[in-house]
Amino acid sequence: MSFDAIGLCDELLQAVQEQGYNTPSPIQLKAIPLALSGRDLMAVADTGTGKTAGFTLPMLQLLANGTKPQPKQIRALVLTPTRELAAQVAENVKNYNQYIKLSVAAVYGGVRIEPQKAQLLEGADVLVATPGRLIDLYQQQAVSFDQLEILVLDEADRMLDLGFIDEISHIQSLLPKTRQTLLFSATFSKQIKSLAKGMLNNPQLIEV
Ligand code: AMP
Repeated sequence: MSFDAIGLCDELLQAVQEQGYNTPSPIQLKAIPLALSGRDLMAVADTGTGKTAGFTLPMLQLLANGTKPQPKQIRALVLTPTRELAAQVAENVKNYNQYIKLSVAAVYGGVRIEPQKAQLLEGADVLVATPGRLIDLYQQQAVSFDQLEILVLDEADRMLDLGFIDEISHIQSLLPKTRQTLLFSATFSKQIKSLAKGMLNNPQLIEV
């Protein structure tokens, strides 16, 4: 099965080809068509399985196909547990975004907040963020979620392990109820099931 056959647009096929990928990984084969269909997903996939492209590729395609509401508003939010992962995911998003040309920003703790505020003022279609810094930026009115269409929780189990449950609940309360949510986790524990129940709408479960 090729990337072509799972419904990716030419701009993404080109970017994927330039990454040197020949065929989709098992998680990509399952997640990409379902995400493109608009479904919420609960995907159990570890690092190294190609999960980042599994959510990034459909996310970019859905945003590119949609109508852009307002230039300065976030349309997709990817939450990650650590700043290292946020930086790495943002790098991946930028690679796949080369020909789609949406705007991408990343915000995380441990660095000065002012440049991140300035970046968000310019607007971004896709925001990759760690929970604590995102809440700080929201409280400083640097970001709005009114136009949010897609939420991705990456490494959700690690977010719970690191004690981010309150931050995630807070962020969820700020987001539009009508949206698509994709949750990725290396494990499928009771806690993850309960998180998924509160955040996902009739999700499709994917395991690889
Ligand atoms: P991830 O699980 O998202 O951290 O990805 C693990 C690694 O696999 C990264 O270095 C990706 O660049 C690479 N990768 C992702 N998808 C594919 C693919 N379809 N074929 C080959 N390598 C891939």
